[in-house]
Amino acid sequence: MIKFLDLQQINLQHHTEIEAKLLQVFQSGWYLMGQELASFEANLSHYIGVKHTIGVANGLDALRLILRAYIELGVMNPGDEILVPSNTYIASILAISDNGLIPVLIEPDIDTYNINLTHIEEKISAKTKGILIVHLYGRVIFSQKLKDLSEKYNLKIIEDNAQAIGAEWNGIKTGNLGHAAGFSFYPGKNLGAIGDAGAVTTNDDTLAATIRALANYGSNQKYLNIYKGLNSRLDEMQAAVLNVKLKYLDHENTLRRKIAKRYISEIKSPEIVVPEYPEHEKEHVWHLFVIRTSDRNALQSYLTDNKIQTLIHYPVAPHKQQAYKEWNELSYPLSEKIHAEVLSLPISPVMDDEQINMIIRTINTF
Ligand SMILES: *Cc1c(COP(=O)(O)O)cnc(C)c1O
Repeated sequence: MIKFLDLQQINLQHHTEIEAKLLQVFQSGWYLMGQELASFEANLSHYIGVKHTIGVANGLDALRLILRAYIELGVMNPGDEILVPSNTYIASILAISDNGLIPVLIEPDIDTYNINLTHIEEKISAKTKGILIVHLYGRVIFSQKLKDLSEKYNLKIIEDNAQAIGAEWNGIKTGNLGHAAGFSFYPGKNLGAIGDAGAVTTNDDTLAATIRALANYGSNQKYLNIYKGLNSRLDEMQAAVLNVKLKYLDHENTLRRKIAKRYISEIKSPEIVVPEYPEHEKEHVWHLFVIRTSDRNALQSYLTDNKIQTLIHYPVAPHKQQAYKEWNELSYPLSEKIHAEVLSLPISPVMDDEQINMIIRTINTF
């Protein structure tokens, strides 16, 4: 059986270092807001090239806190609109509606699965205050034109960088392209913890201080609360694991690129659409390798029968979810097509050539 993602093997690669760190944290008696978090925040800031990193409890909190901070600072108000891709993972959209902001869904580009930047300007209204770009599946979405539009209309660009840590656009890392970015270190992400963890990065001093307070019960001085905040912390155990694994991230992303390149050049079925390998390869970190076929369900069962585990990212479009029943009658044809046709193949830094050969051979005989 080829697993979709062998997390056990991924983490066991570094077991000596990780176990030593975990034991050290355990024995220290200090489990929250300590040295491991401070060092991870400094390490991630250095890696991304930003001034501030704030460790938080998970990726959804990272995005919620960015928007909440903009509201506390008077940059946004409940009822304002935030543009967001219609085919993203639900968390991007939840972060917007959770703050009383209105998500305005924009269809993707079918070739990249990322938000179609040519449709953005027509969706900007007097109430639009930001755009939440999602580097979906690990592929960067950014352009000078997007930056120009954000300046022209005074929009905040917020990156959902849950899937693209390590990717670069024009030599700049994702997480440093917009005004603020949310990261997830959910175990299955390219940089995964051994539980929940997340972070916000930004170069904005005021925003960083506001998010830090909001994540700490709305307080920056013990027992004095400036905001009605929440408790969202990245604990020392998770920070310790992330400090070890961050050192290997670039190497692991390179291994993912090699697999993606092989899949793209060797999967030959005319029924299957493989993703494009970007001209600038650093624009993709291949969090997911997503193919598309009108015969998706048959292909998935065939692969399961041949002991290859696949997943669907994602089976139901956000506007078709019961949670957003007010949108159920709306039509986003490209998203609907994507949700009906996509299938994610195994891709990870611990797959060997034999497994990759097997997957390619099996698909080509479908
Ligand atoms: C994983 C993910 C999130 C949420 O991260 P959690 O840490 O699970 O809260 C948000 N957006 C996208 C695109 C994701 O893939």
